[in-house]
Amino acid sequence: DSSSSSSETPSKPKSSLPPGMVMGPDGKPCKVCTAFRNWPGKTTKSNAKSSTQKSTAVGAMAAIASGGAVASVSSPDPNVLPAHCPPDVEQLGRATWTFLHTTAAYYPERPTPTQRANMLSLIRALPLLYPCSHCADDFGEDMKNNAPDVSGRAGLSRWLCERHNEVNVKLGKEKFDCGKTDERWKDGPTD
Ligand code: FAD
Repeated sequence: DSSSSSSETPSKPKSSLPPGMVMGPDGKPCKVCTAFRNWPGKTTKSNAKSSTQKSTAVGAMAAIASGGAVASVSSPDPNVLPAHCPPDVEQLGRATWTFLHTTAAYYPERPTPTQRANMLSLIRALPLLYPCSHCADDFGEDMKNNAPDVSGRAGLSRWLCERHNEVNVKLGKEKFDCGKTDERWKDGPTD
C-alpha cells in the first residue's frame, strides 16, 4: 500500500487528497505513484460497466497478459485495476520487475565491456526516468549504497533480487529467496 509509510509517501498529501493518494513532484495527484484502490473517483458501477462492455475473450487475454492483475469480466472488483486503465504503482512495478529480472536471467555469464556499459546505463536510468517518483527516488538512494553488479548473469540477478527485496521489506512483504531467481525467471519449477 503506497500510503502506509513515510518512505512510500514522501510528498505529504494535501487535505483535499483522498487517503492513500500520493502527490507527484509536480504537486498534483500521481496515479502511477498510487495503488488503484486509492485512486479517487472510481466506483463499482463504472468498473462493472467498463468490464462487462468487453468481450470475454478480450478480458481473458488481458487477464493473462497482466498475470491476472486486472478485474475479471464476470466479477469486477472495485479494487482491481481494469484492463483499459493506465498502470497504477503495482502494475507498473510488476511489469518492470518482470522485465528487469528476466533481462538479468538472460544476461551473459561473461558480458563484453559494451554489454556491461549498456546494462549500467539501463539500471542508472531507472532513478531518473521511472515514472513513480518516490519509487525512483528510493531506488536511487538504495543504489548509492549498493552499486550495480553487472559483472555477469549470476551477480546481476542477485543484485536485482536484493534491490527488489529492499522494496519488499519497505512495503511489508516477505523477502524472496535469491537462490531461486533462475527458477522464477528462467527455468521454471523442477517437477
Ligand atoms: P512484485 O513485488 O511486483 O513482484 C513480482 C514477482 O516477482 C513476484 O510475484 C515474485 O514471484 C517475484 N519476486 C518478488 N520479490 C523478488 C525478488 N526479490 N527477486 C526476484 N523476484 C522476486 N511500490 C510502492 O508502493 N512503493 C515503492 O516505493 C516502490 N518502489 C519500486 C521501485 C522499483 C524500482 C520498482 C520496479 C517497483 C517499485 N514498487 C514500489 C512496486 C512494488 O515493488 C511491486 O511491484 C508492487 O507492489 C506489486 O507487488 P507484487 O506483490 O504484485 O509483486
